[in-house]
Amino acid sequence: MRKLALATCFLLLFASGRVHAQTAPALTVIRAGVLIDGASDAPRKNQLIFVRGDRIEKIADGSAQVPPDTKVIDLSASTVLPGLIDSHTHIFLFGEDPAKGGYDANILNAGISLRAARATSACRRALEQGFTTLRDVETEGAGYGDVEIKQAIAEGTIPGPRLFCATRAISTTGGYNLEGYAPELDMPKGAQIIDGPVQARRAAREQLDHGADWIKVYMTHRSWIDKQGNLVSQPTLTVEELRAIVDEAHGWQRKVACHAYNGIGLQRALDGGCDSIEHGLEITDAQIAQMARQGTWYCPTLAVYYTDWGREDTAAGKRDRARAAVHEISFKKALAARLKIVFGTDIGGIPWTEPIAQEFSKMVGFGMSPMAAIQAATSRASEMLDMKGEIGVLAPGAYADVIAVSGDPLKDIGVLEHVRFVMHDGAVFKNEPTK
Ligand SMILES: [Zn+2]
Repeated sequence: MRKLALATCFLLLFASGRVHAQTAPALTVIRAGVLIDGASDAPRKNQLIFVRGDRIEKIADGSAQVPPDTKVIDLSASTVLPGLIDSHTHIFLFGEDPAKGGYDANILNAGISLRAARATSACRRALEQGFTTLRDVETEGAGYGDVEIKQAIAEGTIPGPRLFCATRAISTTGGYNLEGYAPELDMPKGAQIIDGPVQARRAAREQLDHGADWIKVYMTHRSWIDKQGNLVSQPTLTVEELRAIVDEAHGWQRKVACHAYNGIGLQRALDGGCDSIEHGLEITDAQIAQMARQGTWYCPTLAVYYTDWGREDTAAGKRDRARAAVHEISFKKALAARLKIVFGTDIGGIPWTEPIAQEFSKMVGFGMSPMAAIQAATSRASEMLDMKGEIGVLAPGAYADVIAVSGDPLKDIGVLEHVRFVMHDGAVFKNEPTK
């Protein structure tokens, strides 16, 4: 029976006489005025990107032959780059307005459908701005919603970037919101709470089992200014607890991202073998050296610490200013030490209505070259995500994630806030005319 069915199948295919036209995806050629490929240090002028299906087939000089009847997208007046990668996002946050109840209201008042609708909108916003890949570092009480949003994108139900999901994140008792409620109340938490290495490993297993691509761990929580005027942050997990998580995640060939501001918590994150430090506001010289030795990634998320400060005469206002002051120094040290830096924003912590690419201006403002900043959001991030050569680069074999801007981002990095063309997985999502 099976043999017969197979034979019929072949007969039908060949009888149509159009086997090739039906099986090989159509070719699209993008004509790029200037091409920044995400990996090379110099841009190239007048290039052709051959796209077949969801991948780049080849890149050729502008004079190369284009087969007749090929769809050509003319971006000869634009700078063309790989789709951008934001390595620190929260699609399940909405820049919660404190006046409307802030973070707590998101968990206490918003049901899962409302939150999913907002996350759907966040994904569309990211794609519109040319971010074709996100490492989304925890759902803030929305469980495994990120894995399901990723599924909805993959099946074509909603538009959105390629997602790397961290699911619920892990912290300890006293180490995450919601807090400040009557102790009699059993309040929900924005992260999965563990105490002890056994619970830590179990939480990692649960999250990996439910589809986590990364594990996110909060290694510091509250922060304040001490009597000497120093920034202090409260440590959460012990080295033993973190080691259990890292050991488990690495066994699954997954990585661990550690939120860590400074001090004891940041040191434990490094001693526990984390793969990426998130924020890293204040990093000592010894810690910079340890990161270089261990190959730890640094995702600084600068911009979010330079806006929305509390009033100068308040405790929160003083803390906000102290955080920003040390952050700039740490970033410059990391640059000088040639640490592996990736672009990350914490968007969601800031409203999705704001430009994601604002982080570029902060990185360049603190001394990173525009090309290095672009690579932090393309090829460098793809390395961290174990996707080298597949995303974050315009090269044969890579996914066809292609964006374009008017103007030269190497002269004015701000033009990346105005992405006019977006192709994701070979499909054009946005193509605005040049003004
Ligand atoms: Zn974050």
